[in-house]
Amino acid sequence: MTGGSPYSALEIETWRRLLAHGALLRSSAAYLGDFHDLSLTQQVVRSAAGELTLAAQGAALAATDDAAVRGASLAWATELTHLALTASGPAQALLTALQVCAGQASNLDPYRLLFDALEELSAVVYGECWDSPTLSLAGLMTDPHLNGLDDLYPIAGLLESRNPPVVELQIYPEAFRASAYAVIPRLFVHEFVCHVPARGGPSSNTSAFAEGFMDWASEFFFERWIALVDPSLAPTAIEHSRAYDQVVTRAATPEGAARRRGRRAAEGLVIWLVSQGGRQIDEASAWLARQAVLLNCVDAPEAAKDQLVIQLSQPFSPQLDASLRRLLPGGGLSSLLP
Ligand SMILES: [Zn+2]
Repeated sequence: MTGGSPYSALEIETWRRLLAHGALLRSSAAYLGDFHDLSLTQQVVRSAAGELTLAAQGAALAATDDAAVRGASLAWATELTHLALTASGPAQALLTALQVCAGQASNLDPYRLLFDALEELSAVVYGECWDSPTLSLAGLMTDPHLNGLDDLYPIAGLLESRNPPVVELQIYPEAFRASAYAVIPRLFVHEFVCHVPARGGPSSNTSAFAEGFMDWASEFFFERWIALVDPSLAPTAIEHSRAYDQVVTRAATPEGAARRRGRRAAEGLVIWLVSQGGRQIDEASAWLARQAVLLNCVDAPEAAKDQLVIQLSQPFSPQLDASLRRLLPGGGLSSLLP
């Protein structure tokens, strides 16, 4: 049954479980970096993470969203009190802080809060080209990266090209934890900046343009936006987004190689702008991020955009070098599309 769940793809029990888990992680945002790190070395902190999973599981059968969050909050805070008594040093300080955070959990949808805030910022950057997406939340029966319960990042984001477009956040609840919650903003910004407004037909996951060049731009925006959207979470979100990227971007796979090539193209262009154009690196990066957004909105086939990115990922030919010099400072990269 799905009555009461705000997401059609999510049964009410899974919704209340994910709501309670996400709400407690959200209220603990400032401590999630320590929570993750100490859970790797301190058994008592690992137990606290296990108790959080159990508290969220217990919320699945609550009668209302509010009861789900209140019940999980109380259950976890009680366990944290007991665990803190057996801990010492930084682990004890952390568990005591988490206990206070647990008491402050709210029943607002933590996924939608991130989605809405980041969507608003994306809409400003894309302007008329923006096509407001809706959020879908889905619970997975297995880990999307096939790492089972050990996966630090048992989540995935994808775009369904419907009208309006649907961004689906998939979570494997059994392995959900602080590290996974911390990368949700990065997943949203990737879908918003790379895919939602993309023109040029359906995107391939081996597109150096969509997955690499645009992902470079999405990282640029993400690192600026997260500080506005959730300053407490920002340092941990940035740290885990980089770690997550290492997990999902493997040079030996076609997807990973395309992603790396597209990013090298972007980095190479920034370096060229700094060395040839006399710009500061921040200014060059901001210019390129803006150009990437404009290029994404150009109604040209993705293959043409890939071709340009592949050219940019190699040592610049004299023709490309000359073309780039000509288009600066006022022109746009889209004029170089084949
Ligand atoms: Zn993508």
